[in-house]
Amino acid sequence: HGKGLAEQGLIVSHFGVAVEVLFETGERRMVKVKRNSGHVVGDGVTVLGEVLHRLPRRTELSRRDARGGIHLVAANLDVLGVVLAPGTPSGFLDRAIVAARTAGLAPFVVLNKCDLPEALELGRVIGSVYDGILPLFPLSAVTGAGIEPLRDFLSQGHRGAFVGTTGVGKSSLMNALCPELNLKVGALSDYNWTGRHTTTVSSLHALPGGGELVDTPGFRDFGLVDITVQELAAWFPGFESLQDHRCRFNDCRHRQEPGCAVRDEVTSGGISEERYQTYLVLLGEVEALEEEALRRN
Ligand code: GDP
Ligand code: ZN
Repeated sequence: HGKGLAEQGLIVSHFGVAVEVLFETGERRMVKVKRNSGHVVGDGVTVLGEVLHRLPRRTELSRRDARGGIHLVAANLDVLGVVLAPGTPSGFLDRAIVAARTAGLAPFVVLNKCDLPEALELGRVIGSVYDGILPLFPLSAVTGAGIEPLRDFLSQGHRGAFVGTTGVGKSSLMNALCPELNLKVGALSDYNWTGRHTTTVSSLHALPGGGELVDTPGFRDFGLVDITVQELAAWFPGFESLQDHRCRFNDCRHRQEPGCAVRDEVTSGGISEERYQTYLVLLGEVEALEEEALRRN
Protein backbone atom coordinates (compact mmCIF):
# COMPACT_ATOMS: atom_id res chain seq x y z
CA HIS A 1 0.00 0.00 0.00
CA GLY A 2 1.33 3.43 -0.95
CA LYS A 3 0.58 6.35 1.30
CA GLY A 4 -2.00 7.89 -1.00
CA LEU A 5 -4.92 10.08 -0.03
CA ALA A 6 -7.58 9.21 2.49
CA GLU A 7 -10.71 7.94 0.75
CA GLN A 8 -14.22 8.89 1.89
CA GLY A 9 -16.72 6.14 2.43
CA LEU A 10 -19.81 4.89 4.20
CA ILE A 11 -20.08 1.86 6.51
CA VAL A 12 -22.68 -0.43 4.92
CA SER A 13 -22.20 -3.56 7.06
CA HIS A 14 -20.76 -4.36 10.43
CA PHE A 15 -19.29 -7.74 11.33
CA GLY A 16 -17.88 -7.18 14.81
CA VAL A 17 -14.20 -7.19 13.87
CA ALA A 18 -14.55 -5.68 10.41
CA VAL A 19 -16.78 -3.26 8.58
CA GLU A 20 -17.66 -3.14 4.92
CA VAL A 21 -17.04 0.32 3.50
CA LEU A 22 -18.66 1.64 0.34
CA PHE A 23 -16.29 4.22 -1.15
CA GLU A 24 -17.27 7.21 -3.23
CA THR A 25 -15.74 5.45 -6.25
CA GLY A 26 -18.33 2.68 -5.86
CA GLU A 27 -15.72 0.21 -4.61
CA ARG A 28 -16.58 -1.92 -1.54
CA ARG A 29 -13.88 -3.15 0.80
CA MET A 30 -13.67 -4.75 4.24
CA VAL A 31 -11.69 -2.77 6.81
CA LYS A 32 -10.66 -4.22 10.16
CA VAL A 33 -11.89 -2.51 13.32
CA LYS A 34 -11.40 -3.25 17.00
CA ARG A 35 -14.25 -5.09 18.66
CA ASN A 36 -16.61 -2.54 20.26
CA SER A 37 -14.92 0.22 18.29
CA GLY A 38 -18.22 2.08 18.27
CA HIS A 39 -18.56 2.19 14.49
CA VAL A 40 -22.04 1.53 13.17
CA VAL A 41 -23.78 1.20 9.85
CA GLY A 42 -24.42 4.64 8.39
CA ASP A 43 -21.18 6.12 9.74
CA GLY A 44 -19.24 8.25 7.29
CA VAL A 45 -15.53 7.43 7.40
CA THR A 46 -12.23 8.33 5.85
CA VAL A 47 -9.87 5.43 5.22
CA LEU A 48 -6.13 5.66 4.76
CA GLY A 49 -4.66 2.22 4.27
CA GLU A 50 -6.04 0.22 7.19
CA VAL A 51 -6.73 3.26 9.34
CA LEU A 52 -10.34 4.21 9.65
CA HIS A 53 -11.47 7.58 10.94
CA ARG A 54 -15.11 8.23 11.79
CA LEU A 55 -16.76 11.48 10.69
CA PRO A 56 -19.17 13.39 12.96
CA ARG A 57 -22.74 12.03 13.07
CA ARG A 58 -25.95 13.85 12.27
CA THR A 59 -28.17 11.39 14.13
CA GLU A 60 -27.82 8.29 16.29
CA LEU A 61 -30.44 5.59 16.71
CA SER A 62 -30.21 3.33 19.78
CA ARG A 63 -32.03 0.23 20.91
CA ARG A 64 -32.58 -1.18 24.37
CA ASP A 65 -31.82 -4.80 25.19
CA ALA A 66 -33.77 -7.01 27.60
CA ARG A 67 -31.58 -5.81 30.50
CA GLY A 68 -32.08 -2.14 29.74
CA GLY A 69 -28.65 -1.72 28.13
CA ILE A 70 -28.50 0.83 25.32
CA HIS A 71 -26.82 -0.04 22.01
CA LEU A 72 -26.24 2.10 18.99
CA VAL A 73 -28.08 0.68 15.97
CA ALA A 74 -27.25 3.04 13.12
CA ALA A 75 -25.94 6.51 12.45
CA ASN A 76 -27.06 9.29 10.15
CA LEU A 77 -30.56 8.00 9.44
CA ASP A 78 -33.09 10.72 8.70
CA VAL A 79 -36.38 8.83 8.78
CA LEU A 80 -37.81 5.99 10.85
CA GLY A 81 -40.75 3.86 9.77
CA VAL A 82 -42.82 2.62 12.69
CA VAL A 83 -44.46 -0.58 11.46
CA LEU A 84 -47.84 -1.51 12.94
CA ALA A 85 -50.22 -4.36 12.27
CA PRO A 86 -53.36 -5.63 13.95
CA GLY A 87 -52.33 -6.70 17.46
CA THR A 88 -49.55 -4.17 17.96
CA PRO A 89 -49.66 -3.10 21.62
CA SER A 90 -51.21 0.31 22.08
CA GLY A 91 -48.57 2.74 23.18
CA PHE A 92 -45.90 1.33 20.90
CA LEU A 93 -46.45 3.98 18.23
CA ASP A 94 -46.33 6.99 20.56
CA ARG A 95 -43.21 5.67 22.30
CA ALA A 96 -41.53 5.08 18.94
CA ILE A 97 -42.47 8.53 17.65
CA VAL A 98 -41.06 10.25 20.75
CA ALA A 99 -37.86 8.17 20.57
CA ALA A 100 -37.40 8.88 16.86
CA ARG A 101 -37.91 12.61 17.31
CA THR A 102 -35.51 12.63 20.27
CA ALA A 103 -32.87 11.01 18.08
CA GLY A 104 -33.44 13.62 15.35
CA LEU A 105 -35.24 11.26 12.95
CA ALA A 106 -38.54 12.10 11.28
CA PRO A 107 -41.00 9.30 12.02
CA PHE A 108 -43.55 7.92 9.57
CA VAL A 109 -46.15 5.20 10.05
CA VAL A 110 -46.51 1.97 8.11
CA LEU A 111 -49.79 0.21 8.71
CA ASN A 112 -49.07 -3.30 7.43
CA LYS A 113 -51.33 -6.30 6.75
CA CYS A 114 -54.06 -4.15 5.24
CA ASP A 115 -55.16 -7.25 3.32
CA LEU A 116 -56.60 -8.54 6.62
CA PRO A 117 -60.08 -7.39 7.72
CA GLU A 118 -58.76 -6.69 11.25
CA ALA A 119 -56.60 -3.91 9.79
CA LEU A 120 -59.67 -1.84 8.93
CA GLU A 121 -60.47 -0.78 12.49
CA LEU A 122 -56.82 -0.15 13.34
CA GLY A 123 -56.49 1.95 10.19
CA ARG A 124 -59.49 4.03 11.18
CA VAL A 125 -58.14 4.68 14.68
CA ILE A 126 -54.60 5.46 13.49
CA GLY A 127 -55.91 7.68 10.70
CA SER A 128 -58.09 9.70 13.05
CA VAL A 129 -55.19 10.50 15.39
CA TYR A 130 -52.10 10.75 13.17
CA ASP A 131 -53.34 11.83 9.75
CA GLY A 132 -51.82 15.24 9.05
CA ILE A 133 -49.25 14.83 11.84
CA LEU A 134 -47.09 12.16 10.18
CA PRO A 135 -46.84 10.48 6.78
CA LEU A 136 -49.07 7.39 6.87
CA PHE A 137 -48.67 4.36 4.60
CA PRO A 138 -51.39 1.74 4.81
CA LEU A 139 -50.16 -1.25 2.79
CA SER A 140 -49.72 -4.97 2.53
CA ALA A 141 -46.16 -6.28 2.31
CA VAL A 142 -47.58 -9.61 1.11
CA THR A 143 -49.86 -8.48 -1.73
CA GLY A 144 -47.83 -5.37 -2.55
CA ALA A 145 -50.90 -3.13 -2.37
CA GLY A 146 -50.01 0.37 -1.18
CA ILE A 147 -46.23 -0.09 -1.43
CA GLU A 148 -45.71 2.44 -4.26
CA PRO A 149 -46.36 5.59 -2.17
CA LEU A 150 -43.83 4.35 0.39
CA ARG A 151 -41.29 3.67 -2.36
CA ASP A 152 -41.83 7.20 -3.71
CA PHE A 153 -41.41 8.69 -0.24
CA LEU A 154 -38.13 6.83 0.39
CA SER A 155 -36.84 7.68 -3.08
CA GLN A 156 -36.73 11.37 -2.11
CA GLY A 157 -33.20 10.76 -0.86
CA HIS A 158 -34.23 9.41 2.51
CA ARG A 159 -32.13 7.02 4.55
CA GLY A 160 -34.28 5.08 6.97
CA ALA A 161 -35.01 1.98 8.96
CA PHE A 162 -38.07 0.21 10.31
CA VAL A 163 -39.00 -0.57 13.86
CA GLY A 164 -41.85 -2.75 15.03
CA THR A 165 -42.68 -5.64 17.33
CA THR A 166 -41.93 -9.20 16.20
CA GLY A 167 -44.31 -10.44 13.54
CA VAL A 168 -45.61 -7.10 12.22
CA GLY A 169 -43.89 -7.80 8.92
CA LYS A 170 -40.63 -5.82 8.94
CA SER A 171 -38.71 -8.54 7.08
CA SER A 172 -41.52 -8.95 4.56
CA LEU A 173 -41.55 -5.20 3.98
CA MET A 174 -37.76 -4.99 3.59
CA ASN A 175 -37.93 -7.85 1.06
CA ALA A 176 -40.69 -6.10 -0.87
CA LEU A 177 -38.68 -2.87 -1.04
CA CYS A 178 -35.22 -4.32 -1.69
CA PRO A 179 -35.45 -7.50 -3.73
CA GLU A 180 -31.70 -8.22 -3.32
CA LEU A 181 -32.25 -8.82 0.37
CA ASN A 182 -34.18 -12.03 0.74
CA LEU A 183 -34.53 -11.90 4.53
CA LYS A 184 -36.02 -14.88 6.31
CA VAL A 185 -39.67 -14.18 7.07
CA GLY A 186 -41.20 -15.36 10.32
CA ALA A 187 -37.81 -16.17 11.80
CA LEU A 188 -36.49 -15.07 15.15
CA SER A 189 -33.21 -14.70 13.36
CA ASP A 190 -31.36 -12.86 16.08
CA TYR A 191 -31.86 -15.44 18.81
CA ASN A 192 -30.09 -18.78 18.85
CA TRP A 193 -31.42 -21.88 20.58
CA THR A 194 -30.10 -20.82 24.00
CA GLY A 195 -32.23 -17.71 23.74
CA ARG A 196 -29.15 -15.51 23.90
CA HIS A 197 -28.32 -12.87 21.38
CA THR A 198 -26.05 -14.06 18.62
CA THR A 199 -23.99 -11.64 16.59
CA THR A 200 -26.35 -9.69 14.44
CA VAL A 201 -25.36 -7.95 11.28
CA SER A 202 -27.12 -4.79 10.27
CA SER A 203 -26.56 -3.55 6.77
CA LEU A 204 -27.43 -0.62 4.56
CA HIS A 205 -29.11 -1.15 1.19
CA ALA A 206 -29.60 1.26 -1.66
CA LEU A 207 -33.14 0.94 -3.02
CA PRO A 208 -33.57 0.44 -6.76
CA GLY A 209 -35.62 3.63 -7.14
CA GLY A 210 -33.58 5.76 -4.74
CA GLY A 211 -33.23 6.11 -1.00
CA GLU A 212 -31.55 3.74 1.42
CA LEU A 213 -32.77 1.33 4.07
CA VAL A 214 -30.87 -0.08 7.01
CA ASP A 215 -31.82 -3.58 8.00
CA THR A 216 -31.67 -3.69 11.79
CA PRO A 217 -32.07 -7.22 13.17
CA GLY A 218 -33.16 -7.28 16.79
CA PHE A 219 -34.29 -3.69 16.79
CA ARG A 220 -37.69 -3.69 18.48
CA ASP A 221 -37.51 -1.56 21.53
CA PHE A 222 -36.13 1.87 22.06
CA GLY A 223 -34.20 3.22 24.89
CA LEU A 224 -35.44 6.63 25.76
CA VAL A 225 -32.09 8.33 26.28
CA ASP A 226 -31.01 11.95 26.44
CA ILE A 227 -34.54 13.26 26.73
CA THR A 228 -35.93 15.86 29.09
CA VAL A 229 -39.48 16.13 30.40
CA GLN A 230 -39.93 19.28 28.28
CA GLU A 231 -38.88 17.41 25.14
CA LEU A 232 -41.22 14.53 25.91
CA ALA A 233 -44.15 16.93 26.23
CA ALA A 234 -43.10 18.76 23.06
CA TRP A 235 -42.75 15.60 20.97
CA PHE A 236 -45.62 13.49 22.17
CA PRO A 237 -47.91 13.43 19.10
CA GLY A 238 -50.88 15.74 19.56
CA PHE A 239 -49.45 17.63 22.54
CA GLU A 240 -47.45 20.03 20.36
CA SER A 241 -50.07 22.71 20.05
CA LEU A 242 -51.34 22.40 23.62
CA GLN A 243 -48.25 22.93 25.68
CA ASP A 244 -46.31 26.08 26.59
CA HIS A 245 -48.91 28.79 26.35
CA ARG A 246 -52.11 26.99 27.18
CA CYS A 247 -51.20 25.28 30.44
CA ARG A 248 -51.27 27.57 33.50
CA PHE A 249 -47.70 26.65 34.41
CA ASN A 250 -44.88 27.03 31.90
CA ASP A 251 -43.19 23.89 33.15
CA CYS A 252 -46.41 21.86 33.33
CA ARG A 253 -45.77 18.11 33.25
CA HIS A 254 -49.44 17.52 32.42
CA ARG A 255 -50.00 15.29 35.45
CA GLN A 256 -51.87 16.83 38.41
CA GLU A 257 -51.24 20.52 37.77
CA PRO A 258 -54.29 22.81 37.81
CA GLY A 259 -55.13 24.54 34.54
CA CYS A 260 -53.52 21.85 32.39
CA ALA A 261 -54.52 22.07 28.71
CA VAL A 262 -53.54 18.47 28.05
CA ARG A 263 -55.79 17.12 30.82
CA ASP A 264 -58.63 19.37 29.60
CA GLU A 265 -58.15 17.82 26.17
CA VAL A 266 -58.33 14.32 27.68
CA THR A 267 -61.55 15.24 29.52
CA SER A 268 -63.12 16.58 26.35
CA GLY A 269 -62.02 13.51 24.36
CA GLY A 270 -59.58 15.27 22.03
CA ILE A 271 -56.83 13.03 23.41
CA SER A 272 -57.81 9.50 24.33
CA GLU A 273 -57.40 8.27 27.92
CA GLU A 274 -55.33 5.39 26.54
CA ARG A 275 -52.81 7.71 24.86
CA TYR A 276 -52.66 9.92 27.94
CA GLN A 277 -51.78 6.83 30.03
CA THR A 278 -48.96 6.09 27.55
CA TYR A 279 -47.71 9.64 28.10
CA LEU A 280 -47.74 9.12 31.88
CA VAL A 281 -45.72 5.90 31.55
CA LEU A 282 -43.13 7.68 29.38
CA LEU A 283 -43.11 10.62 31.80
CA GLY A 284 -42.31 8.22 34.65
CA GLU A 285 -39.42 6.75 32.67
CA VAL A 286 -37.99 10.15 31.77
CA GLU A 287 -38.26 11.33 35.39
CA ALA A 288 -36.45 8.19 36.55
CA LEU A 289 -33.66 8.95 34.05
CA GLU A 290 -33.44 12.52 35.33
CA GLU A 291 -33.20 11.35 38.94
CA GLU A 292 -30.49 8.87 38.03
CA ALA A 293 -28.53 11.61 36.24
CA LEU A 294 -28.86 13.85 39.30
CA ARG A 295 -27.59 11.09 41.59
CA ARG A 296 -24.54 10.57 39.38
CA ASN A 297 -23.58 14.26 39.31
P1 GDP B 1 -41.08 -9.40 11.39
O1 GDP B 1 -40.94 -10.24 12.61
O2 GDP B 1 -41.58 -8.02 11.73
O3 GDP B 1 -39.86 -9.34 10.52
O4 GDP B 1 -42.27 -10.05 10.51
P2 GDP B 1 -42.17 -11.03 9.25
O5 GDP B 1 -41.86 -10.27 8.01
O6 GDP B 1 -41.26 -12.16 9.59
O7 GDP B 1 -43.68 -11.50 9.14
C1 GDP B 1 -44.35 -12.19 10.18
C2 GDP B 1 -45.55 -12.92 9.62
O8 GDP B 1 -46.51 -11.99 9.10
C3 GDP B 1 -45.19 -13.83 8.44
O9 GDP B 1 -45.97 -15.00 8.56
C4 GDP B 1 -45.60 -13.02 7.23
O10 GDP B 1 -45.93 -13.81 6.12
C5 GDP B 1 -46.81 -12.27 7.75
N1 GDP B 1 -47.02 -11.00 7.02
C6 GDP B 1 -46.11 -10.04 6.76
N2 GDP B 1 -46.66 -9.04 6.06
C7 GDP B 1 -47.97 -9.37 5.88
C8 GDP B 1 -49.07 -8.74 5.21
O11 GDP B 1 -48.98 -7.64 4.63
N3 GDP B 1 -50.28 -9.40 5.25
C9 GDP B 1 -50.41 -10.60 5.87
N4 GDP B 1 -51.63 -11.17 5.84
N5 GDP B 1 -49.40 -11.21 6.48
C10 GDP B 1 -48.20 -10.63 6.49
ZN1 ZN C 1 -50.27 20.73 31.25
